[in-house]
Amino acid sequence: MKSWRAERLTQLPPYLFVEIDRRKKEAIAAGRDVIDFGVGDPLRPTPTFIVDRMAEAIRKAVNHRYALGTGMPEFRRAFVDFFRGRYDVSLDPDSEVVALLGSKEGIGHLATAIVNPGDAVLIPEPGYPVYVSGTVFAGGTCHTMPLTEANGWLPDLEKIPEDVRRRARVMWLNYPNNPTGAVAPMSFFSRCVDFARQYDILIAQDAPYCELFYGDPPPSILQVDGAKDTAIEFHSFSKTFNMTGWRLAVAVGHPDTLAALAKVKSNLDSGVFRAVQEAGIAALEGVDHPEIRDQIDIYRRCRDIVVDGLCEAGWPVTRPEATFYVWAKCPPGTDSMTVAARVLDEADVVVIPGAGFGPAGEGFVRFALTVSEERTREAISRIAKLRW
Ligand SMILES: *Cc1c(COP(=O)(O)O)cnc(C)c1O
Repeated sequence: MKSWRAERLTQLPPYLFVEIDRRKKEAIAAGRDVIDFGVGDPLRPTPTFIVDRMAEAIRKAVNHRYALGTGMPEFRRAFVDFFRGRYDVSLDPDSEVVALLGSKEGIGHLATAIVNPGDAVLIPEPGYPVYVSGTVFAGGTCHTMPLTEANGWLPDLEKIPEDVRRRARVMWLNYPNNPTGAVAPMSFFSRCVDFARQYDILIAQDAPYCELFYGDPPPSILQVDGAKDTAIEFHSFSKTFNMTGWRLAVAVGHPDTLAALAKVKSNLDSGVFRAVQEAGIAALEGVDHPEIRDQIDIYRRCRDIVVDGLCEAGWPVTRPEATFYVWAKCPPGTDSMTVAARVLDEADVVVIPGAGFGPAGEGFVRFALTVSEERTREAISRIAKLRW
């Protein structure tokens, strides 16, 4: 068949989860009882108090029209109030908050807004693939910052070569981190802000898991003095409120960058459905609602089932302080593809091989804690029977 595909599509890195996807489909087709820790999509529905607000909002005719601009003023103000309450940081709702159709959309479009062909973009690995795709589509060059256990899953800024620092336009960070579950301390964010100032780099910190924590609340990079001059942060409703299908997020921080992002968006989309923004206001006002807090307790119990079970079975696994991921080190002498394949073939359990997140992810597999407690327990008892 004839193809009109653009060159840039061939520049995307290969999708490395194909093999596991194929085996998973085979197992399901064969009628096996597969337990899937692969997808980072919450299992439970959006809390009722949010759905109820949506049901009201959807009947208002004014909400049926284009939602032009950077988001409804009431929505942006609600986010500013939430942010002040959580982080004690003030934001200007008019210039320092932009509503997004999910953070994936904003992450992808940020590069179109600020990266010129040939600019270097600093990208953590293992990491969320959209930092790379956005850069590739904008003609930028990806420079990988490996995250290692030895460095607490933080990039080692010292290791970024001098010429790359000078060509770099933006540095991506993602804390609390997918897939490693790591939290960045304020001292690290401070160092990044100093580095960014010195080399004239924008920091884009992706924070969709900032509300999924089990100990102390993780910091925002905007809590660093003067960070707004050199950083933006992405916050998403998807994971906190089980709203992945609704498509709602915000970018906050450096006003000129947000204006550039808004300009790209105004040329490509026409805003977030106003009813969804109204539901978003309800979500922000209810962030401490028992339905939200109960859910974190469920993730905590699933985390402990996975971590304790794997440790007992002889896998060395660290307990994450945030996110709904467990990043488990493969048993000695194995690699992540082999472990994921055997866990699927012999225990009917899907986990993601770390190598699928790039070479720096090798040696680990990722469990997404989006399975019920009972099924999580069942899966871990099956895995514990395997011998490596
Ligand atoms: C889930 C996820 C996102 C995407 O969130 P949306 O707001 O649903 O687009 C972005 N970054 C990371 C690291 C994620 O895990």
